[in-house]
Amino acid sequence: ETISDLLDRLCEIVPDYPSAGISFKDLTPAFADAAGLRRMVDEIVAPFSGQFDVIAGLEARGFVLAAAAAYATGTGMVTVRKAGKLPREVHRDEYTLEYGTGTLELHRDDVAPGTRVLILDDVLATGGTVGSAARLLKMVGAQVIGVGVVLELQGLGGREKLSGLHVHSLQLV
Ligand code: IMP
Repeated sequence: ETISDLLDRLCEIVPDYPSAGISFKDLTPAFADAAGLRRMVDEIVAPFSGQFDVIAGLEARGFVLAAAAAYATGTGMVTVRKAGKLPREVHRDEYTLEYGTGTLELHRDDVAPGTRVLILDDVLATGGTVGSAARLLKMVGAQVIGVGVVLELQGLGGREKLSGLHVHSLQLV
């Protein structure tokens, strides 16, 4: 089975969630499936093999991928979190959402300067979230070597917004 067929089979499309007109891609069945989880993790890191020291997971579904991928590749994992969750000194980045703004934070000392970091999340839409995470990692002097996502939503400009970054998606939807 190709990764594309696997994701077609294990991704549920939820109409009008979280609000009217939005077609939400729900990957929880793919995470719950033994082969699904393994294939997603193995294939999301494959193009970046040997190029990173740490994986940054974006709250919350990115944590699942990043922790599994870090364990599988013998690297570390850092959490990029929504505002107010990290207990020590943070860098903060505010970014624009479709309606309003979002804020992400990263501990100032979780990633040493010069560390090569791979960013992982489940879905790339407008690119606002990944762009924010990349800015936070630059603030601590890390080198973002790439971005891996399971699904890339087309027509929302995410890939264009992240120009200059190597973006690898398992499936275009
Ligand atoms: P962006 O910042 O517009 O690229 O949106 C990406 C963020 O929103 C990611 O952290 C995703 O987890 C979440 N997201 C956006 N659309 C979906 C979706 O259809 N399914 C699951 N997560 C989504």
